[in-house]
Amino acid sequence: CGIIGYLGDRKASEILLEGLKRLEYRGYDSCGIGVVDGDKLIIKKGVGKVDEVSKNENFLDVDGKAGIGHSRWATHGSITRENAHPHTDCKGELAVVHNGIISNYRELKEGLIKKGHKFKSQTDSEVIAHLIEEELKRLDKSQIFQEDYINAVKRAIKRLEGTYAILILNKDFPDLLLGVRNENPLLLGVKEEECFLGSDISAFLKWTKEIIPLEEGDMVILKKDGNKVSCGIYNLEEDKDVSNNRKR
Ligand code: GLU
Repeated sequence: CGIIGYLGDRKASEILLEGLKRLEYRGYDSCGIGVVDGDKLIIKKGVGKVDEVSKNENFLDVDGKAGIGHSRWATHGSITRENAHPHTDCKGELAVVHNGIISNYRELKEGLIKKGHKFKSQTDSEVIAHLIEEELKRLDKSQIFQEDYINAVKRAIKRLEGTYAILILNKDFPDLLLGVRNENPLLLGVKEEECFLGSDISAFLKWTKEIIPLEEGDMVILKKDGNKVSCGIYNLEEDKDVSNNRKR
């Protein structure tokens, strides 16, 4: 029911934990975080209050400066640890958090299972991670550049029907955080050296007041380069860069 993402130079787990606490008022049943730390993708999640889950799972033990967080209001699949977000692909290299409902997830899931994908949850959301993995499989693994990865994510997202705000993190691209929205809110908070994504302004208002609300079909591409984070916005429906058309 709430989403927060961070890319910058601070410890992501601290920002995510605080952001999730600020989203608590929206109501939820479980929560979790995913952080890229060095060459590892670390997922911590569970059922219950943010404080409890964070203590039991030691959220703050995770270093790393890129991360995503989620508080879940279950719609598909019961309230269990496996169904809590983030969800990953088969190899655990790519993590997604999702607010909303993927209405065509059954067909997508059946197709992916036929192609050999193993699912760990009963959620509609998990198909997103596997769809991206499937798109990446078609590329030559020895030379996947940032742009190839971004295009693979675009192709995967275009296959989704339903409502969503999604954040995507990949251990092979630790300097990249992607977000997309369709009918569920997603806001971008910008600063020179760090950026935030959130379903609600309260998630990151503490750190920046420079806010760009995203529009339907927008995909945000946050890239870290040295001590700067740049943000590009691409609209998937219009198939073009709209970075200059979005107002703060
Ligand atoms: N449909 C997803 C699930 O049941 C996301 C729910 C949410 O928006 O929190 O896990």
